[in-house]
Amino acid sequence: MTTSSENSRAAYYGFKITPLTPDRIKDWYEQPIRQPLNLDKKKQPRGQLYIIPDRCKECGYCWEYCPEHVLSISTNLNKKGYRYPTIADGKEDACVACSMCTEVCPDFAIFTEEIDEGGTP
Ligand code: SF4
Ligand code: SF4
Repeated sequence: MTTSSENSRAAYYGFKITPLTPDRIKDWYEQPIRQPLNLDKKKQPRGQLYIIPDRCKECGYCWEYCPEHVLSISTNLNKKGYRYPTIADGKEDACVACSMCTEVCPDFAIFTEEIDEGGTP
């Protein structure tokens, strides 16, 4: 959608504004030129998670903010009486090593290491 000031500017400079429709935006992003040339060699990173249960205080930030929903809450308690994160059912290979959980954990109780599987980084 164009505004009236955009239309009058277009008329002044003598060009035509073609409205951006969802279909035009979709076409634009699907053009091959918008994709990396080595897309076929790209691999999604995978992460190995490490959880230190006794540091956890069950704030929940890690499982709330994980973009891949890798984490869930354990039914076990740590020595302070808190439930700590565990890997959710079916998500054993879903960690993409983004480190969001590490960044948000206030108690340094969780971290990840990227698994080197070869391929283009
Ligand atoms: S590293 Fe990222 S994807 Fe893996 S568990 Fe943490 S927040 Fe989730
Ligand atoms: S963010 Fe840290 S302290 Fe909070 S629940 Fe997760 S591991 Fe525990």
